[in-house]
Amino acid sequence: MKKRILFVTGTRADFGKLKPLINSVKYSNDFEYQIFVTGMHTLSKYGRTLTEIEKSGFENTFIFLNQIENDNMEIVLANTIIGLSRYLHENPVDLIVVHGDRVEALAGASVGALQNILVAHIEGGEVSGTIDEIIRHSVSKLSHIHFVANENAKKRLLQLGEDKSAIFNIGSPDIDIMLSDDLPSLSQVKRHYDIKFDDYSIALLHPVTTENQEIAFNNAKIFAQALLESGRNYVVIYPNNDSGSNHIFRAYELFQKNSKFKIFPSLRFEYFLTLLKNSRFIIGNSSCGIHEAPVYGIPTINLGTRQNRRFKHTSIADIPFENNLILKTIAEHGNKRFPICHHYGYGKSAEHFLNTLSNNVWNISNQKQFIELYQNPYV
Ligand code: UDP
Repeated sequence: MKKRILFVTGTRADFGKLKPLINSVKYSNDFEYQIFVTGMHTLSKYGRTLTEIEKSGFENTFIFLNQIENDNMEIVLANTIIGLSRYLHENPVDLIVVHGDRVEALAGASVGALQNILVAHIEGGEVSGTIDEIIRHSVSKLSHIHFVANENAKKRLLQLGEDKSAIFNIGSPDIDIMLSDDLPSLSQVKRHYDIKFDDYSIALLHPVTTENQEIAFNNAKIFAQALLESGRNYVVIYPNNDSGSNHIFRAYELFQKNSKFKIFPSLRFEYFLTLLKNSRFIIGNSSCGIHEAPVYGIPTINLGTRQNRRFKHTSIADIPFENNLILKTIAEHGNKRFPICHHYGYGKSAEHFLNTLSNNVWNISNQKQFIELYQNPYV
């Protein structure tokens, strides 16, 4: 019998990484896939990106609205757990695949662990700032199988007491798409989104949930003001819906009716990548500046604490929210180009994922054991 695999997606951020993996099982004779679509994908304010999933040609999708605007993250978590639990009673599966560090992944892993369904976590073992850090490690502890993006991540999972034989380094699956020959051309993308700039940069700022509200609004204002003063053209992408995003929306009112700013809720992943590849630099605190921009040698100006302790590379300038420093870094760092970086893989993740699913995972026990790294004097 074919093994049934459920992928849980809550945002564009995880879908870009899950997409190559879903495609790999879609074309395999050994597996059946289903997709539980929820979170930001369902919200019109954030571009209702569930249409991207439909356009990708996937079937077997189930759409679950886990929130309305301004629901707290814990309410979204609770709603997702309830929705997914009910879904699984009607549609049993053999494996749940979640990605990263959002509440939807935490819900997927919790329901899987509690229902004795194997859970695979994509890109665990990374470090960062904000609540993402805590969610990511919690998801790893609830998961039975780990598909990490690099050896450092694997070592961190070993520190968490995870079993070496259940950790597979497949690289970051978005690199598969980044390095594919099928990305749209720049002219196609500019036409599609009506972007007229020849020379532009990308701005993508998210809230930091662990920061106090006053600092958050102040940082958002400093960010918007500095972009304005830099006199450059920007493709600005909305923040995610984490607590505090309202401050960023308020700060962006500064860009209204300014032809140097073209603002979008969200762009289709492949189209976004082409824009990134041809941009001057990316600024803000998106994981894209750490994960993806270095793959194209594009400079990143990374602000504040959201990506704290993530991978460092010469293309990434880490700076605080200070007007003068932002302007100086834009002028100096923003004009450079860097050697291509393969820290997160070489674009073969989907192939490794499928090989692992075909050969290695089905005898992994749902009874996890904590693996001691040190001799424990009490046992
Ligand atoms: N992304 C996208 N379209 C956009 C902006 C971003 O597909 O308009 C992708 C981006 O390439 C990255 C992912 O979304 O892979 C995550 O970026 P985001 O800044 O939304 O979230 P983060 O990972 O920082 O939480």
